[in-house]
Amino acid sequence: MRVRAQIAMVMNLDKCIGCHTCSVTCKNVWTNRQGAEYMWWNNVETRPGPGYPRQWENQDKYNGGWALSGGKLVLRVELKKSYKPPGLDDYYHPWTYDYEVLFSETQAEQQPVARPISLVTNEPVDVKYGPNWNDDLAGTEYILEDVNMSETERAVYTQFKDVFMMYLPRICNHCLNPSCLAACPRKAIYKREEDGIVLVDQTRCRGYRYCVAACPYKKVYYNWKTGKSEKCIFCYPRVEAGQPTVCSLTCVGKIRYMGVLLYDADKVLDVAAEPDPKRLVRRFADEVLLDPYDPNVVAAAREAGIPDDWIAAARRSPVYKMVKVWKVAFPLHPEFRTLPMVFYVPPLSPVVTTYENAYGAKITDIMPKVSELRIPIQYLANMFTAGDTALVEQALKKLLAVRIYERAKNVAEPGLAEKAKAALQEAG
Ligand code: SF4
Ligand code: SF4
Repeated sequence: MRVRAQIAMVMNLDKCIGCHTCSVTCKNVWTNRQGAEYMWWNNVETRPGPGYPRQWENQDKYNGGWALSGGKLVLRVELKKSYKPPGLDDYYHPWTYDYEVLFSETQAEQQPVARPISLVTNEPVDVKYGPNWNDDLAGTEYILEDVNMSETERAVYTQFKDVFMMYLPRICNHCLNPSCLAACPRKAIYKREEDGIVLVDQTRCRGYRYCVAACPYKKVYYNWKTGKSEKCIFCYPRVEAGQPTVCSLTCVGKIRYMGVLLYDADKVLDVAAEPDPKRLVRRFADEVLLDPYDPNVVAAAREAGIPDDWIAAARRSPVYKMVKVWKVAFPLHPEFRTLPMVFYVPPLSPVVTTYENAYGAKITDIMPKVSELRIPIQYLANMFTAGDTALVEQALKKLLAVRIYERAKNVAEPGLAEKAKAALQEAG
């Protein structure tokens, strides 16, 4: 066993309100400069949707990530003998508004319009895409209240109302098996020994952009001004000072939990090359991530030079509890085989009807209803567990049980809390 420590994050998607505060505060601190305008080290995507950059999950489009060839892990950029980083159209042309026109126009019937101007050429630009192009459902709930709507129109809009959506905030995952690092011919990308943060050494980088193509999450960006690649640095100067990342600190929904994980570095490549992606997900939590209460793990951690305060931090880590103990948080697209260190609690909402019906009932009575939730479980499983619906369903059951318990405890009639507590125990 080769124990290593890693700073990691869990995001509880039930709590994300899509306000983009995380993205904006991150930008203000880290990418508010020339050459980095289009970069969003933290971005928040509305799902379902093509994401940012456009279709980043399509590994054939960009030749990103790892593939298995003859049972071995091979970079797709090498396997295909070509690399395809996203182009400007897949992100968006950096632009600002021509605000001057608001003051210089003479009075007219129509108000003047501030049109987008390229930050690169200073010319008007036709904006065709952006970091959150397909945000929200444009007020369909409100439209349905229109009493003058014809039945045909109502039917059309009702379909919209049934459409589900969710928010997915994304940062670099500071993976255990980073394909960005493996693809760099200059060895400019490295994973810090002490906390696992993945960084680009700006003095070594020559801007070849292999990393941009090879990251399956498209979380390395090319700076057109400096000619070098950049990425999320997990706010390491703040972490070193005992502070949370800027995105965690400023998150309005308080969806982000930071914590230390202990993992077995000897298991990383073996599990990353697990042929069955569904088994990979389970082996990742069970074999790669370690139990910081296990005396053998603690002894091996000390032998590896991990300080006692980090071992203590791993024990009280919410990431450890949510990922390994409670199994309610999962990595994004584990089938990409990079073993990400950012995890997500899948969203349960909205569950009002299910919840009201379930209220005070036995958990086994209400569980079939979990599969009727608005966000299809298969959709979540494809995103977080390589299609394994059983894992997601189990996590949602636990979340539902906690909701019932908390609501019964805090707002319900006396007596229901006990029933809900039994439900919680039943859900494990
Ligand atoms: Fe590298 Fe991408 Fe993983 Fe970040 S998410 S460590 S950029 S492979
Ligand atoms: Fe979601 Fe928090 Fe970001 Fe707002 S600040 S979009 S709640 S992750």
